[in-house]
Amino acid sequence: MSLTNGQSVSKETWDSHNKMMLDPLSVSDSEVFNIIKKEKHRQIYGLELIASENFASRAVLEALGSCMNNKYSEGYPGQRYYGGTEHVDELERLCQKRALEAYGLDSEKWGVNVQPYSGSPANFAVYTAVVEPHGRIMGLDLPDGGHLTHGFMTEKKKISATSIFFESMPYKVHPETGYIDYDRLQDNARLFHPKLIIAGTSCYSRNIDYARMKQIANENGAYLMSDMAHISGLVAAGVVPSPFEYSDIVSTTTHKTLRGCRAGLIFYRKGVRSVDAKGKEILYNLESLINQAVFPGLQGGPHNHAIAGVAVALKQAMTPEFKAYQTQVLANCKALSSGLIDQGYKIVTGGSDNHLILLDLRSKGTDGGRAEKVLEACAIACNKNTCPGDKSALRPSGLRFGSPALTSRGLVEDDFKKVAEFIHRGIVLTLEIQSSLDPKAPLREFIQALAQGEKFQQRVAEIKTEVEAFASRFPMPGLPEL
Ligand SMILES: *Cc1c(COP(=O)(O)O)cnc(C)c1O
Repeated sequence: MSLTNGQSVSKETWDSHNKMMLDPLSVSDSEVFNIIKKEKHRQIYGLELIASENFASRAVLEALGSCMNNKYSEGYPGQRYYGGTEHVDELERLCQKRALEAYGLDSEKWGVNVQPYSGSPANFAVYTAVVEPHGRIMGLDLPDGGHLTHGFMTEKKKISATSIFFESMPYKVHPETGYIDYDRLQDNARLFHPKLIIAGTSCYSRNIDYARMKQIANENGAYLMSDMAHISGLVAAGVVPSPFEYSDIVSTTTHKTLRGCRAGLIFYRKGVRSVDAKGKEILYNLESLINQAVFPGLQGGPHNHAIAGVAVALKQAMTPEFKAYQTQVLANCKALSSGLIDQGYKIVTGGSDNHLILLDLRSKGTDGGRAEKVLEACAIACNKNTCPGDKSALRPSGLRFGSPALTSRGLVEDDFKKVAEFIHRGIVLTLEIQSSLDPKAPLREFIQALAQGEKFQQRVAEIKTEVEAFASRFPMPGLPEL
């Protein structure tokens, strides 16, 4: 190969490389660009009711897509293992300050780690910080509305790493009422003596009694960690009870009701933990335990672009507009709930204090898996979920619906009444498909009938066309094109 100027690659290729680095995505990679375009279309034309999802603002996505992606900064502000960190130090400190402010916390009493990559690694960092290997943890069971990371395992298998590396004993909701069974938790905690109790949920429509949870933790000398992943936006806006008063540690994701980019936060207490019998103060030592567990224990370089996005989201979370948004999230969830109750559906616990509801389909004679498939075909996104008392986790009988994402698009109560009607039509169709099949037909056959039955496909198309026309009337937050 003939090379010019002593350069080891051809000038032509090098010029082309330099152009590649400046091309926009649409030019550089039409395959990925087109997939993103299709996803954008799905988000605009569909009804997004997945309770853990939201639409981040344009400013959040701009920060996330910024040059902060490029910087390594292992360590913490002022003590990094890399040079050139003056601006990421400023950013991380700003993010910490806003995180404390957004929850009304005194920096003498609380600190925060803003580096966790997401909610699951944040939780795992807390466990490794305060629980010894094979130490004991109690969290709400997954089929009862808890999260995988709270220690999920089945009779046959330990599923979550939390249950593999720690000893997990779940607590449950009451199978009839659907409310957390605090009495049973208390009895079992007295026997199990956990080191950590987790108050937090992924599918629970009621407020948690943090005072009761703290009392149970104290009885056993356990830490109370509240995992507010789902409700952290509602907490920041002050429209649901805050876990901070009663918790030693609070973890959260930043991309659910908080409406930031995907990341995690861990808040920890500082100062006096308790006073012993002789009047001696016992101090918390969570700050160094948690910071060391995140880095260097579990993670490497912080995702500075994500920290930038979280900082922006936290600023937005302190505005009156955000409080209005969260107030509307609650109102919309109630409108959806009452809309479905009016159509004759049963809602677990009879309603909701927060952003989500769990629809119990047992009395209708169908289940969550089948209804979810039909709704998805109609451009309505939600997910199947077990209901309290479900015999098998393999055939969950409920559907989980949340109002945060659609509320970000500007929908109000009357719009959610309309959404309830669309859901009802999808479920009616589910029942029709089911009654055309053998009552024992497996889900696979149901999906086949849905996809291949001409009559059913026509019904799906009718609903979907109306859903798409309705959904596309509402603006979509985020970057204009992508
Ligand atoms: C979503 C969720 C998490 C995990 O968050 P990821 O960012 O998906 O890892 C943890 N805890 C609870 C309660 C959640 O709902």
